[in-house]
Amino acid sequence: MHLKSMTLRGFKSFASATTLRFEPGITCVVGPNGSGKSNVVDALAWVMGEQGAKSLRGGKMEDVIFAGTSGRPPLGRAEVSLTIDNTDGALPIDYTEVTISRIMFRNGGSEYAINGSACRLLDIQELLSDSGIGREMHVIVGQGQLDAVLQAGPEERRAFIEEAAGVLKHRKRKEKALRK
Ligand code: ATP
Ligand code: MG
Repeated sequence: MHLKSMTLRGFKSFASATTLRFEPGITCVVGPNGSGKSNVVDALAWVMGEQGAKSLRGGKMEDVIFAGTSGRPPLGRAEVSLTIDNTDGALPIDYTEVTISRIMFRNGGSEYAINGSACRLLDIQELLSDSGIGREMHVIVGQGQLDAVLQAGPEERRAFIEEAAGVLKHRKRKEKALRK
């Protein structure tokens, strides 16, 4: 399984549709300060279901929508699509290529889709959680995050391990069922 491409439209500084293509192996994103490198990583986390504004380096969720510049008015929606090569079947879905999409409107509404079919956020989170790219996003190691893992208490550390082992999904479902 590997990421094939990602298209951003109205996401943070990417006002116009921008497609990034990835090959298997290592991809480096280089550019001057403030050119949008970290925004690319934010887009990756966001399309995979990230729900924390702080993790996306913003104050509120709407901050991911292009806010406008002196020459360009703000946009009303942000959209990111991520295409994953699934020829090895790592994702539990019967497609060799899987595209997940997330759209957010300035009025707060959100839409999610898997291969063009509307779905819930939970569907995307569950699809990805068995593949090692779970919703807690430990595949994205941000600045200072390594310290957080090293300093975590036993409960938190167990959650990291449970996620890696693929059992966190079942725990969350159990907790949700018990709350009903
Ligand atoms: P550095 O090398 O300093 O880490 P970087 O390439 O990672 O820089 P980013 O943090 O990705 O840069 O991009 C920052 C830029 O994105 C800033 O110019 C900021 O104004 C712009 N930006 C962030 N959110 C939005 C938004 N909602 N609308 C428009 N521009 C935005
Ligand atoms: Mg950066």
